[in-house]
Parts: sequence; C-alpha cells; structure tokens
Amino acid sequence: MIARRDLLARLAAAAGLVFAPLGAVARAAFGTLPKAALHYRDEPLGEKSCVTCSHFLHAAAPGGADHCTVVAGVVSPHGYCVAWQDRNPTNSC
Ligand code: SF4
Repeated sequence: MIARRDLLARLAAAAGLVFAPLGAVARAAFGTLPKAALHYRDEPLGEKSCVTCSHFLHAAAPGGADHCTVVAGVVSPHGYCVAWQDRNPTNSC
C-alpha cells in the first residue's frame, strides 16, 4: 500500500513531467530582438498598438506580464514597434 505522502510526491513529480515541457514551449515563443532595435515604445502609434498586433502574447494568467513573439522582454498592450502587424487580416486590404 502506498502512503499518502508517497502518493502526493509521485503526483507532483508526474505533474512536473507534464507541465515543464509546456513551459519550455511558451518561453521559446517569446521574442528575442532588443526593443531599441525595433524602436519599441510604451505608447501606441495612432490605431496601432501591441494589443492589435498579430505578434502580441497576452499574459498566461491574470495580472501577469504580456510579451510578444518578436521583441524581448515585457511589452505593454498600449506599446508599439516597427514590427507591428495587424492581427485582423480583414484590415490588410
Ligand atoms: S507592436 Fe512590436 S512590440 Fe508590440 S506586439 Fe507587435 S511586434 Fe511586439
């Protein structure tokens, strides 16, 4: 018979095996280019902002930091850089 403590330890280890690779995938999707290289700023350019950009990645949890697939580090939903790309394909024509 497995003690409750041993069972919990095995479940925690199994959860680590499942979720660790998912975390690695999420981190790999984050951008790596320096903000300065793409003239990133924390303000929108007219209607263009990170939250309307196809590269924007919402925080995984409420209150977490937002990222994108191009620029390294945390970005603001109200930010902008020269790599901006409309997330709404119907606006491209
Ligand atoms: S505008 Fe630039 S910084 Fe913002 S989400 Fe798009 S690529 Fe990233």
